[in-house]
Amino acid sequence: MEKIKVTKFGGTSMADAKQFCKVKSIIESDDKRRCVVVSAPGKRHDDDNKVTDLLYLCQEHIKYSVPFDQVFDIIAKRYLDIVMELELNIDIKSYLDDIKSKISKNISIDYLVSRGEYLNAIIMAEFLNYDFIDAKEVIFFDNNGFIDLNKTHEVLSNKLSWGRPVVIPGFYGSTPDGKVKIFSRGGSDITGAIVARVAEAELYENWTDVSGFLMADPRIVENPKPIERITYRELRELSYMGASVLHEEAIFPVREVGIPINIRNTNEPDNLGTIITDDIKDEENQNIITGIAGKKDFTVIALHKNHMNSEVGFIRKILSILEVNNITIEHVPSGIDSLSIVISNQQLENKLNIIIDEINKKCNPDSINVYRNMALIATVGSKMAYTVGIAARLFTALADAGINIRMIDQGSSEINIITGIEGEGLEKAIRAIYNTFVL
Ligand code: ADP
Ligand code: ASP
Ligand code: MG
Repeated sequence: MEKIKVTKFGGTSMADAKQFCKVKSIIESDDKRRCVVVSAPGKRHDDDNKVTDLLYLCQEHIKYSVPFDQVFDIIAKRYLDIVMELELNIDIKSYLDDIKSKISKNISIDYLVSRGEYLNAIIMAEFLNYDFIDAKEVIFFDNNGFIDLNKTHEVLSNKLSWGRPVVIPGFYGSTPDGKVKIFSRGGSDITGAIVARVAEAELYENWTDVSGFLMADPRIVENPKPIERITYRELRELSYMGASVLHEEAIFPVREVGIPINIRNTNEPDNLGTIITDDIKDEENQNIITGIAGKKDFTVIALHKNHMNSEVGFIRKILSILEVNNITIEHVPSGIDSLSIVISNQQLENKLNIIIDEINKKCNPDSINVYRNMALIATVGSKMAYTVGIAARLFTALADAGINIRMIDQGSSEINIITGIEGEGLEKAIRAIYNTFVL
């Protein structure tokens, strides 16, 4: 059987009737585009709201027993306008009324926010004359909250084998007891990757509002250079560190079976965007670094203890304190007598004092310093491992920009140098690194 392309369209690509028309012409221009995954309507302009955010806002109103009708009406209007402008024959109002009546009956937050993609997929299916498949019936989580790929494969591949072109809502699936469960924010990218894997697609196209992956966040660096080709590994490092174009979890399902990802721009469909594959020949990539990304809101706990390295079990003791407190760690860079632990602030909540007390008691360090509100920057590139002097250039760039480095970590894979700096310097630091390596 001929291989298909799975196409995922993000929020801005699905924001209004005009965008729906662009999506339709993209799909109709290639008859391999037979499997479409969609997000909820995103922003139509900078000051607009994403429907998913409005659905969360609805939930907040309900939580504090404040009437939610006004917010719900704004959401409803988004869908009513799309259906009206596209002159579709769907009674979208009855779907909306049904959701509204269920809200008062205490539905789960996951069910409520998933309706953003559910309704958009129903409308897009009608517009394209494709079949609608509810993600609840084909994307399955296990009891631990992870994707159950075997069950998903069994059920979804059966449906796809019927040969009809389909639209599937992104962002959610169902638990073993049949309840709707969502992925984390931006999760429609994951749905698209899972569908591409099950469909054994030749390509996973991810259509968004930028012409591919750029070397830095375009909101920070003016007109960053586009990346034509990038490896899954490099991309994962960048996505994890805040290059939000593609959800970091969207890489595994396709990487394991070698399906390339192509990031494309719905507003500029002739641009070929970025191809993400396993291997890139050196001559294909002229730049020493592939990209830069950064993320705020980390805490670094820096420990110093003379002869730390020769003390058996020192690191284990520290890690077990964090484990007992149910905290995951981002990085643990270490020297001979020093060790830093990098934790996302979200993980720490109110546990910082408890942890510091326990470390002092059980590990007896010479000093312990805590840096709150740190930012991490990842400078990523497969070529870095065998190019001399990259780290020196990076640190000089930051020093020249007047930025203090609090932590350095070069992962053992050597495709990534992570620097920890004060949070407010993030944008300036990214621009300094970009200017050094790219301009
Ligand atoms: P979608 O709604 O289509 O899923 P997202 O908002 O999740 O789109 O991702 C696209 C956005 O990612 C872009 O509009 C851009 O602002 C942002 N972005 C952050 N870092 C980068 C980068 N390195 N390259 C391109 N876009 C980036
Ligand atoms: N609509 C969801 C969000 O805003 C999922 C997605 O767009 O991928 O996070
Ligand atoms: Mg996204």
